[in-house]
Amino acid sequence: MTRLVDVNSTIVALATALGSGSIAVIRLSGKNALSIGNKIFTGEDLEKAPPNTIHFGRIVYNSREIDQVMVAIFHQPHSYTGENSLEISCHANPLIVDMIVESLLDNGAVMAGAGEFTLRAFLNGKIDLTQAEAVSSLIAAKTKHATKNALEHLEGALQNRVEFVKNSVMDSISLLELDLDFSEEDIAIADPGQIAGRVGKAKKNIQALIDSYNYARIFNSGLHLTIIGKPNSGKSTLLNVLLGENRAITSHIPGTTRDTISEEIIIQNILFKIVDTAGLREAKDNIEAEGIRRTQTQIDLADLILLLVDRSEEMNGEDKKIIQTLQKAYGGKVFIVLNKIDKPENKKTRDYVYKLNLSRIEISAREEQNIDELKNKIVNHFAETIDQFEDETVITSRRQLDLLEKCAGALERGARTLKRGLGNELAAIDLREALNALGELSGEITTDDILDNIFSKFCIGK
Ligand code: GDP
Repeated sequence: MTRLVDVNSTIVALATALGSGSIAVIRLSGKNALSIGNKIFTGEDLEKAPPNTIHFGRIVYNSREIDQVMVAIFHQPHSYTGENSLEISCHANPLIVDMIVESLLDNGAVMAGAGEFTLRAFLNGKIDLTQAEAVSSLIAAKTKHATKNALEHLEGALQNRVEFVKNSVMDSISLLELDLDFSEEDIAIADPGQIAGRVGKAKKNIQALIDSYNYARIFNSGLHLTIIGKPNSGKSTLLNVLLGENRAITSHIPGTTRDTISEEIIIQNILFKIVDTAGLREAKDNIEAEGIRRTQTQIDLADLILLLVDRSEEMNGEDKKIIQTLQKAYGGKVFIVLNKIDKPENKKTRDYVYKLNLSRIEISAREEQNIDELKNKIVNHFAETIDQFEDETVITSRRQLDLLEKCAGALERGARTLKRGLGNELAAIDLREALNALGELSGEITTDDILDNIFSKFCIGK
């Protein structure tokens, strides 16, 4: 859809998910929201009723009663969109929702585009672009950490950081330009070294945000756990046990292959992408070679490798070779999981594994023994990483990253120019570029294409 919003139109959409809920909320926003609502609502006169009030009544259309509803009234600018708005809570029957939406359309409303409520909120200055993006992140967040981060963004955490840096850069530009004004008179207003120091600080602030993008992956797709081991060592059983009640909201990741199964799970509030792989051994044919190649990819991608060993079986030379290779290449991120402790142990296998310099744990996947210990061990392995981002403002969108990098690059160049005494004029150009990148980030500078790109990812009704 085109992003050119017709500010004279009044938009309508279902704001809740259509499904098995008991209540559905239909949003109506725009100049004529109150009068259009009034045409189908019997009860209080919605145009005369005070703002921020809720009214019980009936929706009647073409002389037919459709539903009993509650209508909340918001007057501009004190609404989500900044426009006059109504929220109609009706019974969540798709037929009822359809009839109410249809009756509003027949009375002059138009269907809202994807993300149009939030877009209008942005255009009406209720929120900046980082906050608009946070609305989307908040709805999509899969863990408590991700929810907290998105909510902080919505409440202006990123916006404030950006504002702070913007002001500092603006001050530097003012000093440089003032200096240029007086350059004829040989009066030095600005000390380039001092301004370079200030710009350097701004760059540091931006760099911390850029670095936080490393954690975005943990929010968005989760820490990568790869399970490997010989066929029959119990990989699928372990995956299923770990999945148990921990299955993430979106459980099945598309693009999984016949021989690598990947699921999202949440363990102690942390999102993991857990991948069960094909065996790792010398390939006997092409199909197996492909499976092994995929396993290798999953090993390379892993934040942690769970190497499953059947403790009741004796290992052969090939098994040992694989373990040694893994230890050499990935030592710090390999856990040996000795499985099947409900069965008598093979002493040779146990002794071999205990001599290795690898973290290990003994479990029974089938009998669910030591599974909590395994989960704790996994989470503890990432404790430091998690501590680091828990109190950080984490950026989670590629758009934000690109603009922050653009800004940091320009600040860096500006500081260098100042330090080398290459001219205040040149430095001011770099600082303006940094400012523009921040302006784009918050949405002060924007184009239809940028807005289209952001809001088309929203659902209708948001
Ligand atoms: P995969 O080929 O590595 O995925 O192994 P599976 O998960 O399919 O398990 C192979 C066989 O070992 C199955 O018959 C499982 O029931 C069994 N198994 C898995 N874990 C255990 C365990 O902890 N104890 C026992 N006794 N059997 C297990």
